Amino acid sequence: RVAVVGAGVSGLAATKCCLDEGLEPTCFESSEDIGGVWRYTEHIEAGRPSLYPSVISNTSKEMSAFSDFPFPEHFPVFLPHARLLDYLRRYAERFGLREHIRVWTTVVSIRKRPDFATTGQWNVVTEAAGQQTSEVFDAVMVCSGSFSEPSLPLQCFPGIERFRGQYFHSRQYKHPDVFQGKHVLVVGMGNSGVDIAVEATRVAAKVTISTTQGAWLQGRMFERGYPWDMILNTRFMSLIKTNLPGPLSWWLVNYKMNQWFNHENYGIQPERSCPVREPVINDDLPSYILTGRITIKPGVKEFKESSVLFHNCPEEEPIDIVVFSTGYIISFPFLEESDVRVENKHASLYKYVFPTHLQKPTLAVLGLVKTLGAIMPVAEMQARWVSRVFKGLCLLPSQSVMEKEVNEKKKNQVQWFGLTYDEVLKTEWLVYLDTLASFIGAKPSVLGLLCTDPWLALTIFFGPCSPYQYRLGGPGRWEGARHAILTQWDRVLKPTRTRVPAGSSSFPSLLVVLGFLLLLAAVIFSF
Ligand code: NAP
Repeated sequence: RVAVVGAGVSGLAATKCCLDEGLEPTCFESSEDIGGVWRYTEHIEAGRPSLYPSVISNTSKEMSAFSDFPFPEHFPVFLPHARLLDYLRRYAERFGLREHIRVWTTVVSIRKRPDFATTGQWNVVTEAAGQQTSEVFDAVMVCSGSFSEPSLPLQCFPGIERFRGQYFHSRQYKHPDVFQGKHVLVVGMGNSGVDIAVEATRVAAKVTISTTQGAWLQGRMFERGYPWDMILNTRFMSLIKTNLPGPLSWWLVNYKMNQWFNHENYGIQPERSCPVREPVINDDLPSYILTGRITIKPGVKEFKESSVLFHNCPEEEPIDIVVFSTGYIISFPFLEESDVRVENKHASLYKYVFPTHLQKPTLAVLGLVKTLGAIMPVAEMQARWVSRVFKGLCLLPSQSVMEKEVNEKKKNQVQWFGLTYDEVLKTEWLVYLDTLASFIGAKPSVLGLLCTDPWLALTIFFGPCSPYQYRLGGPGRWEGARHAILTQWDRVLKPTRTRVPAGSSSFPSLLVVLGFLLLLAAVIFSF
């Protein structure tokens, strides 16, 4: 019996993977429905994530799908929250997950049983309709997400106590009317901050974003209008990235990222010290800076009664309202601190999943890692691995080996390409997926496929690393995987190519095919 905490993206994948392995999951969801962060509510619910209604996914539908369940072809390429929730509902229906989910049930505590050293079992106390219930589970998957507890580090902002204007955390933001006619300051240039700043410009008198570190900004639309993640997250790109020496990789990132617009000219060039910062995905910000609707400023030095001073800027900026888009804190209030330690936002977990010091590997945390790519396939791969560890089909290394790796990661040696980053739980998307897939025997062999199914092998190597690749073989093999891979671009074009001029051809030109074959030959010979 496995307890799954939370019925968001990770919790649904966990429940499904338990069922696939013949385990018996019970998924506890404190709210009225599934969906986690993607379940929009107009009011803010304590202890739960809160979205603003304009949110659209940052990763494309092909790269965000669960590996055996592509998005419907008519869905847009990037998904408004309601569409994403719709997809999660379809997933739950398709795999019969609902009957394993208990809504309106909050997990209050998870404690080791006295005989844990031999059984690995847990006491799970839940509360529903004011009644507490205690049950015994053989294992636990924590899928409670990391967007419930806002980080509002007011102590970092001198003078905030004398500021007479209004301020709130981005989690409380819903609609732009609060900014009507006001001078708005958005603190923090993450995805929330930029989304909110762009929306504020519709009604505000002036909008300023303050950023301490800057960020790489890219549009959802990448080269030639294709989704960014389908172009950047390929095995071919990953091979190039991981084999480049440091300075060359910095130059390449600079070059690639500055092709759309020059980040330095727009005041948002990231500090060299934070190269692996999650990129901000926004299609509007550069043109809003260009048209004066948004101004970029450095970090806040000091708040005054009705204005703000920024570092290295002599003049004060009048401000009426501040949105602290300063991210979230990771916390597991239902766990004992000794079971999962979180220090400085860093949880000590082997492969960002398993606590290293428990006598039995029966507790796992899913969806915590911050890969530079879609989270759904990652959470799903974690769930596939974890359910096989729970079942005893995959073994973890010894405690000392796991601890050594975790401690190495904690040092936060940030490199960019060439890997080894983790400036607080960050890792390379494709490499991470491949690593976990190899644990369960689901990593595709490109060279093997080159002999048996060359077209598929080429598509896998040069094309987007869509999650279906991890269902071609091994446990949980899915018959539809090959077809899903070969039709991924059709599903991308379906909702956009809604007008095809008479006489246009969808076949690639001879030149493109020739170029492709030459490139392939070059890669094969370089091996
Ligand atoms: P975030 O990515 O954690 O960014 C928070 C930012 O706050 C930091 O990057 C930093 O910005 C600033 N900050 C943090 N501590 C600070 C301090 N002590 N002093 C000054 N500034 C501080 O938070 P988020 O933007 O809310 O995003 C949370 C997650 O949700 C991310 O993974 C994001 O991708 C995701 N998200 C997704 C969407 C979408 O899919 N459309 C939309 C929104 C958010 P500076 O370095 O710039 O100062």
